Amino acid sequence: MNRIDEHPRFGHHLSEAVVDGIVIIDEYGVIRHVNGRVLSLTGYSHEEMIDQDIDVLIPGRFHSHHAAHLSAYVDDSKSRKMGTSRKFTLQCRDGSEIAVDIALSPFHLDDKKWVTATIRDDRAHRAMERSHDDAEQRFQLAFESNMAPMMFHDHENRIIAVNDAFCQMIGRSRSELLGVDSSAYTHPEDLGITEATHDRLTSGEVSQARYVKRYLHKNGQVIVVEVLKAPARDADGNTLYYVLSQRDITEERALTAQLSHQALHDPLTGLANRALFDDRLTQALARAARFGDLGAVLLLDLDDFKGVNDTYGHVVGDQLLRAVALRLEEITRTSDTLCRFGGDEFLYLAEALDSPEQASELAQRVLRSFDEPFSVAGTLLQLAVSIGIVLWDGPGNSTTEVIQNADIALYEAKRQGKSRSVFFTANMQLKAMSRFALTQQLRQALHSGELEMHYQPIVDLRSSEVVGFEALMRWPHAERGWVPPSVFIALAEESELILEIGLFALRESVAALTWWDEQGLNTQQPFVTVNLSLRQFHDPELVSTIAKALSTSKLDPGRLILEITESVTFLDFNETLNVIGHLRDLGIAIALDDFGTGYSSLSYLTLLQPRIIKIDQSFVSPAHESVHNNTLLEAIVSLGRNLSMTVIAEGIETEPQLERLRQVGCVLGQGHLFSHAMPIDSLKELVDGNRGFWTGSTYQLRLTD
Ligand code: C2E
Ligand code: MG
Ligand code: MG
Repeated sequence: MNRIDEHPRFGHHLSEAVVDGIVIIDEYGVIRHVNGRVLSLTGYSHEEMIDQDIDVLIPGRFHSHHAAHLSAYVDDSKSRKMGTSRKFTLQCRDGSEIAVDIALSPFHLDDKKWVTATIRDDRAHRAMERSHDDAEQRFQLAFESNMAPMMFHDHENRIIAVNDAFCQMIGRSRSELLGVDSSAYTHPEDLGITEATHDRLTSGEVSQARYVKRYLHKNGQVIVVEVLKAPARDADGNTLYYVLSQRDITEERALTAQLSHQALHDPLTGLANRALFDDRLTQALARAARFGDLGAVLLLDLDDFKGVNDTYGHVVGDQLLRAVALRLEEITRTSDTLCRFGGDEFLYLAEALDSPEQASELAQRVLRSFDEPFSVAGTLLQLAVSIGIVLWDGPGNSTTEVIQNADIALYEAKRQGKSRSVFFTANMQLKAMSRFALTQQLRQALHSGELEMHYQPIVDLRSSEVVGFEALMRWPHAERGWVPPSVFIALAEESELILEIGLFALRESVAALTWWDEQGLNTQQPFVTVNLSLRQFHDPELVSTIAKALSTSKLDPGRLILEITESVTFLDFNETLNVIGHLRDLGIAIALDDFGTGYSSLSYLTLLQPRIIKIDQSFVSPAHESVHNNTLLEAIVSLGRNLSMTVIAEGIETEPQLERLRQVGCVLGQGHLFSHAMPIDSLKELVDGNRGFWTGSTYQLRLTD
């Protein structure tokens, strides 16, 4: 027998050879054949199964359904293949259940209907499916509830999925986003970045890309995001779609920008700060070194700004600085850098100049921009500025040197009378070096007691009595000899040092009077006049300092006279009146020094109401005698008399000068004709030794006896 399929055991062998379980039932659902695989799956023996109702293999809860299914199937049977999702549950002998996949194939034999059920253990596959479902679910969860905005797009850039965070970030709902080309919401300037990144990904140059781009929020706001974009691939490595995970860095960026702006800009004016300026200057100097570019730095310092601050307070001072910054910005060329250097100083870096004249023109423009007063806090403030200019057109300058030299030139501009610009020259540097050294020495002289107060007698021109003294400061410098006050007072005025020096003059003068009184001389109690500098006058501590000095010495305040010049009124007239009022309340008189020089407006005189006017030496001992001068002298004296002010003539050197003063009715005077300024005890010796008569010059000074 060559045909094996005709052999009676063929069916048995075949059935045992297949991997799957095979059960054959008749049309009544009775098991007529079962192979070993089914037995091993379920745990039944052949005997326990054969001729049993198929129900033995079906869990009880399905029995009722199954009977109906079976009869329907037998009536209208179609074969059903394996893997067509015919999921079934097999009941085992021990009551446990097994997930299986079954295939049914009906056949007729001997006019009877049969059904072969092929059973495959489906547990592993189902477990795999379950875990796949779980992963899908986990992914959904991670995607939906992720705080990071996420978006998927297809090859055409169309959005295929977005999560809530993404919708929120760009202010649009899912329905507005899905299916739309994502570039519709991209900042137009960033379309390039997006495309370039996409190309790098599709070309395989990179497997994922990290970049920063901007979206447009529905409300028009620009959102900066950091994107991590990667393709999602199938098992064969084909890209299915793109996954974009993002981070909104708008605020972070703004903060960083703000911080870096803060690091490089002055918070008050918003101008470049020193650090940024240094950087620009370094670059400019490097260009000059390489290409010989002509450049300049202008150092600007507001004239008498301190007075504004002291008078109106820092708030107004700050507003003024802002207003100045704005005005300067208006005239700043785009290629140049304007910087607040600190306090009331500004730096202007001008690059690529055609000629030195251009720097000069620039300075003129700055000076002219101060012509108009500044309107600040409801007041119009007239301000001026001084400018030091440094030029370079080649190698050899460091940033520090440039700024130092600009400072030297600025000093020169101030010295020449302010409100002007001056170019730096090497010659100035020498002077500046000695100025710096001298300031250091002055500070030391003050602390080591090297400074002295000398006193020049002020005399009643009719009786020759000494009625008071002017306190004048002296500095006997160990190497230089006497340094004139015009030099060292001006030097001290450049810094707070003047306040310390002024305090020293006040204390010494008050002490000198007390000492003089204790000597028991038969002089009337003399007064002392003390010179006040501009800066001292505007020192908020001035009035309290003086009040303290007076109360500790118990000196009659009427014997202290403060000399001021008209320049104290330059800053703010009302504030000047205010300070004078306070001093007057303390019982202190004011003398207007150097009268006749400067502006000498008559209205100032009536408003300031000084007790004393000191006629400047240039009227008393003029270089050239003239009728004009005599008339002026006469006019000033009668003006004082009419306004009930005492007039003191300064710098009387000769008898004719004294005579003329007497003729015009000037009552008090001082000068070398009577005495130089000298230490108070030296004056006492003279007074004592000469029984009240001064014999040091042609004129005899008589002290009251
Ligand atoms: P000032 O207040 O006008 O002082 C009068 C100046 O004239 C003094 O110069 C004095 O020595 C000088 N002088 C007096 N009599 C004659 C004379 O007959 N002929 C000539 N040619 N000069 C005479 P000094 O001492 O050099 O002081 C110069 C200026 O320095 C003072 O001018 C004053 O503004 C300032 N100064 C002096 N001491 C102090 C001080 O303690 N504090 C302040 N803030 N300034 C002071
Ligand atoms: Mg004086
Ligand atoms: Mg004077």
